[in-house]
Amino acid sequence: MSFSDLGLLPELLRAVQEKGYSAPTPIQAGTIPAILAGRDVLAGAQTGTGKTAAFVLPILQRLTQDAAHGAHPAPRALVLTPTRELAAQIADNATGYGRYLKLRSAVVFGGVGINPQIDQLRRGCDLLIATPGRLLDLSEQGALNLSRVSCFVLDEADRMLDMGFIHAIRRVLKLLPAQRQNLMFSATYSEDIRALAQRFLHDPVNVEVTSRNSTAERVTQSLYRVPKESKRHLLAHLINEGNWQQVLVFTRTKHGANRLAKQLESAGINSAAIHGNKSQAARVRALADFKSLRVTALVATEVAARGLDIKELPHVVNYELPNVPEDYVHRIGRTARAGASGAAVSLVSPDEEPLLRDIERLLKRPIETTAVPAFPILNMPAEPDRGPPREMHRDRGAGNGNRGGRGGPRRPQQGQGQRQERVPGNAARTAAPQDGQRHSAHRHGESHGSRPAGAPRGEGGRRFGGERRGARTQGERGGGANSGWRRA
Ligand code: AMP
Repeated sequence: MSFSDLGLLPELLRAVQEKGYSAPTPIQAGTIPAILAGRDVLAGAQTGTGKTAAFVLPILQRLTQDAAHGAHPAPRALVLTPTRELAAQIADNATGYGRYLKLRSAVVFGGVGINPQIDQLRRGCDLLIATPGRLLDLSEQGALNLSRVSCFVLDEADRMLDMGFIHAIRRVLKLLPAQRQNLMFSATYSEDIRALAQRFLHDPVNVEVTSRNSTAERVTQSLYRVPKESKRHLLAHLINEGNWQQVLVFTRTKHGANRLAKQLESAGINSAAIHGNKSQAARVRALADFKSLRVTALVATEVAARGLDIKELPHVVNYELPNVPEDYVHRIGRTARAGASGAAVSLVSPDEEPLLRDIERLLKRPIETTAVPAFPILNMPAEPDRGPPREMHRDRGAGNGNRGGRGGPRRPQQGQGQRQERVPGNAARTAAPQDGQRHSAHRHGESHGSRPAGAPRGEGGRRFGGERRGARTQGERGGGANSGWRRA
């Protein structure tokens, strides 16, 4: 099938061609004709499948063909999305796909002054992309007229619910005209998602293009069973030995992301953290540095990483396994976007075995365990105090002084980051710290206290609290306003 088989306008076909897409992805082939026909759609698709174009292209077409085109400054299509990064990305895509059409787009999300957004909305737009909190703020201030919305998209619906946006969604739905087209995209279908779908979709066309695990099929997955306190050393070793240029590393908490970025940096690996507590400027900078390979390791929390469009990311590391097994599939899907393939590595400590079992149950197969190689104990800062989360080193100027050398060699210099001691090759395979390892770690300043081997280390209680709470406000806090094809 080609894009021209889908009934798209020549202007859209031209834009798609210029993007270099040769054929529609399955989600695009499934949804575009249904949306063009005016149907409601329930689509099971995750980031990386081409889902953005799957709804943006037909919406642009319908907006162009709509008789009211150009008649009114109020938006006629609304895309609600959980994070500011995703909102900005959708807006960028819309700008690209709509470059040969006479439409205006706007994107609004929190964290920046609301007044420029009010001005922008006053000038008018056809397509509005928004995170829920700022949208409701703008509406409450009387700056937004949603009465002309004829197409509503709920993007990443499962993530929206995870982030506690259900009440905001309900409020937004009340602001929309009853007569409208509804599209809902979700990577997973829980009971809550089905209930939400029933609530506002009318006789939807169901498009489930991929089984939830199909992305996982294209990714080479492996895991190392390794004690928690050895993870950072093994990760540094994998990055250095494999000469990895770009690796997205997932931690569970924002504090953990900051800490690991700092630790890796001190081992000579250019690193940055990205999470909901970061300023928008820091997030944009970290992502830009990562995309341009100035940063080798981007350490991210789950929510922050959602929607980041980084093409053909070669390596993803689960430094800690996610609590929700579906998140594992999301995470590793980062390496297999739009047909590319990649490698996903998980570092699994003994306390994470139950999480691993849940993931393997979802995948319906075990993940291959790789023997832990001999790796050096690097001179990285050990577990710090348990005080309140600190801002990331790059913002605070800590680190080992190699930031000036960003983009330069990242292998640790002899005597700088690397100790000559080696850990026995298979020490960690038994899923509990072996003597050799534990002693090595002790000598280099780690303190295990009376914690049993493999027990969680001060993060257990923060698992949900930190990220989930932050995530809830993430869409509200950061970001800015962007305009689309034409500045409104
Ligand atoms: P998305 O799932 O919307 O985040 O898209 C993931 C990536 O796939 C983006 O970089 C898109 O530019 C790219 N993409 C979207 N549609 C196609 C297509 N038909 N062929 C190749 N790449 C695509």
